[in-house]
Amino acid sequence: MFRSIIITILTSIVLSQATYGQRSGHEQIIKGVYGSPQSIWDAGYELRDLGINAIFVRSTSLDSSIIIRARHEDQRIFVEFPTLNGKNYVNKHPEAWAINEQGQKVQAASWFMGVCPTDPAFRRYRFDQLDNLLSKYAVDGIWMDYVHWHAQFEERRPILPETCFCEHCRSAFSRDKGIELPPGDLTTQASWILSIKDSLWRQWRCEVIVDWVQEIRAIMDQYNPEMLLGMYHCPWTDDEFNGARQRILGLDYNLLSATIDVFSPMVYHGRMERNPTWVADHVQWICDRLRTTAGNSPKVWPIVQASDQPHIVSAKEFRQVLKAGLSKCASGVMMFTGRSVVQAEQKIRVLREVYLSSGSDE
Ligand SMILES: [Zn+2]
Repeated sequence: MFRSIIITILTSIVLSQATYGQRSGHEQIIKGVYGSPQSIWDAGYELRDLGINAIFVRSTSLDSSIIIRARHEDQRIFVEFPTLNGKNYVNKHPEAWAINEQGQKVQAASWFMGVCPTDPAFRRYRFDQLDNLLSKYAVDGIWMDYVHWHAQFEERRPILPETCFCEHCRSAFSRDKGIELPPGDLTTQASWILSIKDSLWRQWRCEVIVDWVQEIRAIMDQYNPEMLLGMYHCPWTDDEFNGARQRILGLDYNLLSATIDVFSPMVYHGRMERNPTWVADHVQWICDRLRTTAGNSPKVWPIVQASDQPHIVSAKEFRQVLKAGLSKCASGVMMFTGRSVVQAEQKIRVLREVYLSSGSDE
């Protein structure tokens, strides 16, 4: 009985402690893994023996045992929070389905199903989920995932529909921008918006995404303002696909960088069928774009590809992109996924070699 009380007290102490510090200036090069660290432990490794100092765990797989063991191995713990992806949600709540300019419910964009970002019930649902998560676990940061309007950028040929023209979105646009929409049905108003108010409409869509980011920051601040807010996002320059990162996805770096602490561009060279050298090029581009220099905010911690989908990523390629992910202003890196690394002995060697030789911050 006494022993179990002691264990309960010790467990609650570990779960309530976060290392923090990074937001207020302490700089540590982040050598991360994305995905549950369990696969690495199951393969017989300790995280720190591989040079890993941070884990990025999906909120759905986070539990007390992962936190306790990770803290024991001196890890910083960041949690991936899926924000606007919600196939199950729209199946149960069809009123939150994103609507295109024809008035139709959008099709899933390969595996992504974006929920309407202005749907009031969905917003409450997601913010409550974050609140519940933070009330249970003290972590070092939240990494928002799927923070964009309905689209698919993780493919060689992206899917870039025009959304969302549901009643909530049209009336919020009208109210927020002080614009009276012409009389008529959804398709009439959508056509008017896209032809007459196109640039204002796209600016408003970016502001809706920023509002989500600010709401999430406000919830985090109630628990600890030192927690880092990161974001996984589309790795396109301002011009690619006719400016679709801002025009369709709704990601305006000028607006986002006021609230986002760490940008994690998803530079999946294999999945997007690009040359591995593109990773270093993009890191250079985003450092310039955000005007980040080493050690300053917003920080850049790219996520590179280790997984063999849809084609094999060789150990040599993995070394190249992992090192590129730590180049220029980047002060951290992680890979998709830790499991993909432990499944290939050569990739484990690459990880250990690159991580143990990067930065003498420990
Ligand atoms: Zn909508």
